[in-house]
Amino acid sequence: MVGILTKTTPDWDSPFTQEEREFLALTRKICRQEIIPARAELDETGAFPDRILKKFREVDLFAAMFEADYGGLGLHPLMPLAILELMAHDCLGVATTFGASTVLAALPVKTGGTEAQKQKYLPRLASGESLGALAVTEPGAGSDVLNLATTAVKRGDQYVLNGVKQWITNAGQADIYCIFAATGQKGNLSCFVVEKDTPGLSFGKLENKLGIRCSPTRQLFLEEVVVPADNLVGLKPNRGLLHLLQTLNRSRVSVAALAVGLATGAYHEAVKYTRQREQFGQKIIHFQALQHILADMLVKIEAARHLTYRAGLLAANDHAQASTYSAMAKYYASEMAMQVATDALQLHGGYGFSKEYPVEKMFRDAKILAIYEGTNQMLKNQIGDYIVRTATQIE
Ligand SMILES: Cc1cc2nc3c(=O)[nH]c(=O)nc-3n(C[C@H](O)[C@H](O)[C@H](O)COP(=O)(O)OP(=O)(O)OC[C@H]3O[C@@H](n4cnc5c(N)ncnc54)[C@H](O)[C@@H]3O)c2cc1C
Repeated sequence: MVGILTKTTPDWDSPFTQEEREFLALTRKICRQEIIPARAELDETGAFPDRILKKFREVDLFAAMFEADYGGLGLHPLMPLAILELMAHDCLGVATTFGASTVLAALPVKTGGTEAQKQKYLPRLASGESLGALAVTEPGAGSDVLNLATTAVKRGDQYVLNGVKQWITNAGQADIYCIFAATGQKGNLSCFVVEKDTPGLSFGKLENKLGIRCSPTRQLFLEEVVVPADNLVGLKPNRGLLHLLQTLNRSRVSVAALAVGLATGAYHEAVKYTRQREQFGQKIIHFQALQHILADMLVKIEAARHLTYRAGLLAANDHAQASTYSAMAKYYASEMAMQVATDALQLHGGYGFSKEYPVEKMFRDAKILAIYEGTNQMLKNQIGDYIVRTATQIE
């Protein structure tokens, strides 16, 4: 177990080497230095966090998310979760944009691409010089991913893509797009890598969102976009659903890590505030009613963290229960993060309702965790299916 965020948490059970722990300490320092002074303005303006990502590139944070064979640092497979946790502790918007490129967009190629495709695209993402995005959602197909209206039709040794994608993180900023489209009958999906400068690919306006406002979200339009058949992930058509499921099994654990990070940040703000705020002649942290709220926050964060890293280990080992655990981790951690952010705001009283304190932003940011990469209702459907499937195994 990692337990990296509370200074008091012992690291005796950390799976990381001394060097990896030093890397995390550096990550924490960079995040604090670069994100905290900038986050309120990025939230206000919705500006893209260019400068922060540049700093992340300089200290090899992008490379830390990838294997050595593909331009990465080849760190422990749980290190990406710890890095995302640290980023989300300070800003979920920055962490979402970073994760959408290094995790979500990279995974279809990492898990389903040919060796040549991995060598072609992953080092670019690992250097951070190219940013990635993954596009599956459409205006008429959100949870119902098999119902995609975007089509890819084979013409000679090329595919022609047409359609509209909705709510795409990093759209317009990214250089490399993993786009899912229907190939043939309903339910037959395929995934294509499309470069930003491909003719026919264009983007909608920046969405004006409740939270994670510095993480750009746009529509994506495909009009007669022609890509070589070599850009079909895995080179075999109709394997897109498999690629998507393999992607989500892993990426949902990363979302759980983001939730744990955001919640820990909110918890830290709540402890700091209640230690200095005085009412009735004493610091409010000494009211036992408030200690109970803080106790619930801490216990839930640690429970979610354990579930998240367990799911991460199962995903890293392609375990048969990886997909159920990633659904459980994302579901639990995202609900927990919303609750913890709400409690942190409550503990600030009226000040929590103002932009003067970061808990207001954390509260708004937290909501997305239960929506993107599968809503919590869909995740509970999946967990329910697992329960029914395995019910007969209970003695
Ligand atoms: C900020 C942001 C960033 C995003 N980034 C990306 C991205 O990078 N790439 C990408 O492809 N997509 C992205 N998405 C899309 C996101 O994954 C979808 O919004 C999400 O999957 C839900 O789809 P929907 O919005 O169409 O809601 P719907 O599917 O229409 O759902 C509406 C409601 O109905 C519920 N519901 C639907 N079906 C069922 C069912 N069978 N059982 C129970 N409840 C059900 C849902 O849980 C939800 O509460 C992003 C979304 C946002 C808001």
